[in-house]
Amino acid sequence: MNDPVLKLKNHKPTKEFFIAIDSDGCAFDTMEIKHKECFIPNIIKHWGLQPIAKYARMAAEFVNLYSKWRGINRFPALTMTFDLLREWDKVQQRHVPIPEVPNLRKWIETETKLGNPALEAYCKQHDHADMHQALKWSKGVNASVAEIVDKGLPPFPYVRECLENARNHADMLVCSQTPTEALRREWAEQGIDQFVFAIAGQEMGTKSQHIALAADDRYVKAKMLMIGDAPGDMKAAQANGALFFPINPGDEDVSWQRLYEEGLALFFAGKYTKEYEAELIKEFDQYLPEMPPWKR
Ligand SMILES: [Mg+2]
Repeated sequence: MNDPVLKLKNHKPTKEFFIAIDSDGCAFDTMEIKHKECFIPNIIKHWGLQPIAKYARMAAEFVNLYSKWRGINRFPALTMTFDLLREWDKVQQRHVPIPEVPNLRKWIETETKLGNPALEAYCKQHDHADMHQALKWSKGVNASVAEIVDKGLPPFPYVRECLENARNHADMLVCSQTPTEALRREWAEQGIDQFVFAIAGQEMGTKSQHIALAADDRYVKAKMLMIGDAPGDMKAAQANGALFFPINPGDEDVSWQRLYEEGLALFFAGKYTKEYEAELIKEFDQYLPEMPPWKR
């Protein structure tokens, strides 16, 4: 058996530096199209939110893309969107009922595998309207993704340039919670798989585990860097004592350009200080607030 984890465990450094790169929403612009063109239109369609479509869109974009919850599972993101709408004065003025989903809330709290297979199994055993509706919505989302995001998307500007620049100094790893098969296809389609020594997806453990498996005791901590677009990526870096370079949601191209023109040179020169990192993280935090803009 070809144990994919073994490839990480057996990795031997060929360079002095190590870089782990998240894929969705970091190297590839997949979050925006998935949420804006697939998730959100289906929320409006399946949950009767047409009269408040503008607010539903703003709430869902906040939760999924532009807050500290960026990247969370679709089901808790949905109930959080409903909660934001219910509290919003402008929405209340429209007198549009916001869906009550008591069984979905209970399921989110008790189920550990929040996905369509578990939801489908639940719906076979219980006749709960909110759960059937959730399944219809979730399947609608997947159908939209298949239809709209069917062709490979190119990486953000400056991703390729960064990879080309870094290849002579660093061993690079794709570090993601997407299925490995999809990652392989996406990186190969764009011809950028050549830059990394391995592609680690959800079957190979968490991002933090990927870094530990591939780099532990093999690189100086100050020569390890994680590039990511979500707080979870930052935590994976910190758990391994690695440095973090944030890709700011919504301004990804600017972040990659900064990494290309400034960050990589500092990193390879041993000048990527904790102060420099803190400055980047401070900016990153502002992109991922806890309070929605309409409440501020
Ligand atoms: Mg990401």
